Amino acid sequence: MSNTIRFEVDAGGIATLTLDIPGKPVNVITPEFQADLAQAVEHIAADTAIKGVVITSAKRDFMAGADLKHLVTAYDRGISAAEAADFSGALNKLYRRLETCGKPVAAAINGLALGGGLELALACHYRVLADAPKVVVGLPEVKVGLLPGAGGTQRLARLIGIASALPLIVEGKHVKPAEALKLGIVNEVAPPGEVVSRARVWLATDPEPLAPWDRKGFKVPGGVGMQNPGLVQAFLVGNSLVAKNTWHNFPAPNAIMSAVYEGCQLPFDRGLAVESKYFGKLLAGPVARNLMRTLFVNKGLADALARRPAGIAKSQVGKLGILGAGMMGAGIAYVSAQAGIEVVLLDTSREAAEKGRGYSSKLLAKGIQRGKVTQDQADALLSRIKATSDYADLAGCELVVEAVFEQRDIKADVTAKAEAVIGKGTVLASNTSTLPITGLAQASKRPANFIGIHFFSPVDKMPLVEIIVGRRTSEATLARALDYVGQLKKTPIVVNDSRGFYTSRVIGTISNEGQAMLAEGIAPALIENAAKMAGFPVGPLAVSDEVTLELQWKITRQTEQDLGARFIKPVGYDGLEKMIQLGRLGRRQGGGYYDYPADGPKRLWPGLKDHWPVSAEQPPVEEVMKRFLFIESLESVRCFEEGVIAHPADADLGSILGIGYPAWTGGALSYIETLGVPEFVAECQRLAKRYGPRFKPTRSLKKMAAAGEGFYPLPGAGKSA
Ligand code: NAD
Repeated sequence: MSNTIRFEVDAGGIATLTLDIPGKPVNVITPEFQADLAQAVEHIAADTAIKGVVITSAKRDFMAGADLKHLVTAYDRGISAAEAADFSGALNKLYRRLETCGKPVAAAINGLALGGGLELALACHYRVLADAPKVVVGLPEVKVGLLPGAGGTQRLARLIGIASALPLIVEGKHVKPAEALKLGIVNEVAPPGEVVSRARVWLATDPEPLAPWDRKGFKVPGGVGMQNPGLVQAFLVGNSLVAKNTWHNFPAPNAIMSAVYEGCQLPFDRGLAVESKYFGKLLAGPVARNLMRTLFVNKGLADALARRPAGIAKSQVGKLGILGAGMMGAGIAYVSAQAGIEVVLLDTSREAAEKGRGYSSKLLAKGIQRGKVTQDQADALLSRIKATSDYADLAGCELVVEAVFEQRDIKADVTAKAEAVIGKGTVLASNTSTLPITGLAQASKRPANFIGIHFFSPVDKMPLVEIIVGRRTSEATLARALDYVGQLKKTPIVVNDSRGFYTSRVIGTISNEGQAMLAEGIAPALIENAAKMAGFPVGPLAVSDEVTLELQWKITRQTEQDLGARFIKPVGYDGLEKMIQLGRLGRRQGGGYYDYPADGPKRLWPGLKDHWPVSAEQPPVEEVMKRFLFIESLESVRCFEEGVIAHPADADLGSILGIGYPAWTGGALSYIETLGVPEFVAECQRLAKRYGPRFKPTRSLKKMAAAGEGFYPLPGAGKSA
């Protein structure tokens, strides 16, 4: 009778509902599932032969929540807050009907239960959770800009108390079985094979089919409202923490607090209505769309190697060569060995190569200390990294990553030496951050095998890898580079060759803008804080110090040399030159825009005001924020127009995961859609008049604004990127 739920009733009158959404690796809430569950619940309520119910799953996990592929299009379809609230309201009504159907219902949670999956379990009267290493339960909706809209905010708070529930929902944390039991989220934990039988044992006790909040005299554990000192702490401190962490750029955490605060003071059903109202506002807003589209849907596609050319056999790197065991080479060696790959780490001397290998030892020692890695695992990983200065050791490598100094002649030299040893089919990838790949490939005898694989520092923490396709790079080489990134479980974006590719080019614009602001007399603290308020992890002056001003200057001069008469001085050029002359070269070199005292946190260099006096009148902080967001977005548009970026999703993912563009925007191109393309264009025109032609909207943007188009096709208009 149902496609998504298997319904069986045994001789004792116990109905078992086994969730099994067809065609999906995990159970998710789909419209069909909702209809099937509604039908099943009515059957249970009406059939007097049914005495109790067990809900479980046929898949490895219990249920992962709503199908975001459906929700992600809501904003672009122009859904209103009221319509979006109805979506949550319908699910709330369904789960509530299950909870009040008059029969005791037990959830046999055989695996992970997240979001709407946990909410379904919370709407049951009893929960048995499988005690297995990979099992977690939680309400992670906040991470995609939403709140648990199927009763999660109301049931969890009433079940375990507001003070315990609030941080779990606001931070979207998940917990393992032992913690879930301790908190009271589940009633029992059991070996995975026993969850159903334990649920049946509970049903055999003939329990009353009532949720705690439907019993007379129910009180929320720990109380509600602001009369309670524990809750004053939870809400006041919670609010301040949310403000500190999000700068009010993400609406979901506050909506969650309001839903819990208001809803828990009301009768349960009215609490559910409050939850739906807040859910509606979030789903109808752009931030949820942005987070779902970029960090869920498009990240998922990128992780599944959506940009991999079709028709090329899947490959695996078994043995990897790395040229240069410095900061980047050492990091690449670690993550590769971690993925089970044999690594040959080569530098100019054995000692230098050993030093690079030592980086892995250090990371592993930390891991052991924290109990995340065993000694055996550490030994095995280290045994996969061979430190050497002998090119002959590269024989048999399927892929070689070059990470020597950022100098063309040195890169050309190591390329030739490596190619003398490696097989004809081996892929050679440069980790250069700025030098065009097509140019570097000139040093290679096999330019079709040459590609850019640009990692970010620190390699073991940064999730993004930018793959750069040179003019002569073959499709097979691209496929193999993507396969390798897939092996590392990192997120790849694919870009075409250009100076600085995508990420380095875009991050350069914000550094320049920061420098230009100094020259305008804007207070350095305002520059830095405005960037953080916009959602960047650090300000542009701090970024420059990290990248080092010395390197920025080198790149700028190299570009000037290469482009000759075509070189256009970036707006921060003179300021950067001045800093170099002053010997303020960056963090590594002892100080740049900041001082780095040994005994305390970094602080802005007081000497800045001597060279760039601070004006008496300062711009509004919103204007400074806007300049940062706009300048990076505009550069991204130029990359898109020039074909450096082929798919908007690559710019959005690359900007958030690689260079810290604020996540609430959905990325540097989605930000433009968030404001509205015509609004963005009008604002560019104002900024260009005020600050210079670098803010001029491009021709394609103006066309897009006039045509009412965006970067992504609207739902129904074609396939999303
Ligand atoms: P680094 O100075 O830390 O390391 C470079 C290493 O290359 C050194 O160990 C050096 O001894 C070795 N080396 C130099 N000449 C060599 C040769 N002829 N043969 C073998 N080894 C040689 O530099 P890094 O920060 O690791 O950067 C390496 C590359 O990665 C550069 O192209 C850089 O642009 C790029 N990159 C750097 C970052 C970053 O944040 N540092 C990020 C992405 C990409």
